[in-house]
Amino acid sequence: MAKITSIEYFRVKPRWLMVKISDDAGQYGWGEGTLEGHDLAVEGALDEMIVRLIGQEANNIEHIWQMFWRHGFYRGGPVFMSALSGIDIALWDLKGRTLGVPVYELLGGKVRNKVQVYAWIGGDRPADVEIAAKARIAQGLKCVKMNATEDTNWVDSPSVLDATVERLRIVKSLGLDVGLDFHGRLHKPMAKQLAKALEPHRPLFIEEPLLCEHPEAIKQLADSTSIPIAFGERLYTRWDIKRFLEDTSVDILQPDIAHAGGISETRKIAIMAEAYDVAIAPHCPLGPVAFAASLQVALATPNFAILEMSLGMHYNTESGDGIDLLTYLKDQSVFDIADGYVNAPTGVGLGIEIDEEMVRKISKDTKPWQCKEFFGPDGSIREW
Ligand SMILES: [Mg+2]
Repeated sequence: MAKITSIEYFRVKPRWLMVKISDDAGQYGWGEGTLEGHDLAVEGALDEMIVRLIGQEANNIEHIWQMFWRHGFYRGGPVFMSALSGIDIALWDLKGRTLGVPVYELLGGKVRNKVQVYAWIGGDRPADVEIAAKARIAQGLKCVKMNATEDTNWVDSPSVLDATVERLRIVKSLGLDVGLDFHGRLHKPMAKQLAKALEPHRPLFIEEPLLCEHPEAIKQLADSTSIPIAFGERLYTRWDIKRFLEDTSVDILQPDIAHAGGISETRKIAIMAEAYDVAIAPHCPLGPVAFAASLQVALATPNFAILEMSLGMHYNTESGDGIDLLTYLKDQSVFDIADGYVNAPTGVGLGIEIDEEMVRKISKDTKPWQCKEFFGPDGSIREW
């Protein structure tokens, strides 16, 4: 059995954290533990984990996951779980490479041949969504996501919601299905109004209509609308999600494979969701390793619905340096979109080959990414 000999991590533009694990048989695997705006914290968590990981048997992914979960005493939360995600994904890639099979074969095999994807339009402050929507259609997409509103006060003018309804109407008229991300930036008095106003226009889902720290308010909203309620990017484990399955407030769970304990935990969350007739639509506004890992889980998961893809996303393109989802891939055709789908990759492990030279080069001068800041006209802090 091969033993783990090294774990390296690389902070790379635009805002991603990649992990490489190697073993004494000469094999390697890539993971991603990106936690946007908290790079240094995840890197610190990885520094602590690396000490325990060296010398472990690389094949024992579940044992390693349990070792970090239980022997660390303190556990869960975005920082710890993102670091664990980076390790877990890299170990699945390494194991697939060792055995010469794609990861989906290790998860029971494919239940579909291709994976439906969606991408963002409109940025943080949606304006001219029509042009952006047409560009996504030209890329072969059938479904997009956009922010529902700009930053909004606890109680704001109901007129701020009118523009949201109009944008949804415009984009849907082009033939696209639309998920609307409330981004947790609406509070209860506005969220219930907006859900009601959107309902006749039939969005695919509304995402984080309220923050998960308000489970009772989400339940109330879910009971009052026919629009599917989606959330989960800020829930990190099966223990975080179980109350939302039990209270029936969630229709679509959106675990992020880079924050939710990697392939191992995302798979378990999906299985729990299936038992409650809840769909999985993995959150993934992140890098190529997280996307590839999400593809592998999607291919083997019966209740999978649709996968987020960061190609051309505003966070990738706003610096203007040209670094995007495909930059670190040796074969960029592996994520080609056709008719709204990405085909099942055929390669071993995660099915991608990372351009390590490029990763090492760009990591040399990648500064930590900072979260956005939004303020109301009175200077008060608003959710972003
Ligand atoms: Mg979101």
